Amino acid sequence: MVLGRGLLGRRSLAALGAACARRGLGPALLGALLHHTDLRKSLTVEQGAMKVELLPALTDNYMYLIIDDETKEAAIVDPVQPQKVVETVKKLGVKLTTVLTTHHHWDHAGGNEKLVKLAPGLKVCGGDDRIGALTHKVTHLSTLQVGSLHVKCLSTPCHTSGHICYFVNKPSSSEPPAVFTGDTLFVAGCGKFYEGTADEMYRALLEVLGRLPPDTEKYSVGEPTVPSTIAEEFTYNPFMRVREKTVQQHAGETEPVTTMRAIRKEKDHFKVPRD
Ligand SMILES: [Zn+2]
Repeated sequence: MVLGRGLLGRRSLAALGAACARRGLGPALLGALLHHTDLRKSLTVEQGAMKVELLPALTDNYMYLIIDDETKEAAIVDPVQPQKVVETVKKLGVKLTTVLTTHHHWDHAGGNEKLVKLAPGLKVCGGDDRIGALTHKVTHLSTLQVGSLHVKCLSTPCHTSGHICYFVNKPSSSEPPAVFTGDTLFVAGCGKFYEGTADEMYRALLEVLGRLPPDTEKYSVGEPTVPSTIAEEFTYNPFMRVREKTVQQHAGETEPVTTMRAIRKEKDHFKVPRD
């Protein structure tokens, strides 16, 4: 199925809270989760020269297969279900060369070791030595090519200390670029501060991701499956609106970083109401 943007509804904040809570699930539950995954379908988002195939994984994650239309070279973001990646690559007739790992958590990096066994010779990128099968350690502003696509690595420590977001564009193309934000930026939310501070998340969201071109399509974990843009996040994501007086007042704070800390704390303690 090919989707334009905006066909699916925005995810509610309550659902988001529940999804964040599920992030702590361990590998023992993998079997049950995989069954659930079968109910969701793969989607393709056409971005002009770049195609992004969204492959459902686990309960609410997606693996993103980024395809350069010109050369048919492809990269996969967080291939937690390697078999599915290999099957899709075969079905689409593309050449997978690169793994882009956002961070070391098992629900993102847990498939790397198996994938390199199934498809030897892959370049496995990531910003953390805890990432399985890592061959190319990247840092802030490291760059690489996937066919004619240009990938820029953005260091966004906080959820984990080695978290990397990947900004992908085709130079000299008028098509909007894309950014793959792992567990740093969600639709209307952000990842938990497991290994970092509010100060670091402020820098990641406002000063790194927030300064990307406003029309950048953002792909992150969870539903909905259609990306939002950086500009849209500035309108409804409270974590990206911490410089606004109304959000600061809601948090009972007067400056952005303490507001970031306060609303993260509020979200962490948010319980989905039960009937
Ligand atoms: Zn994570």
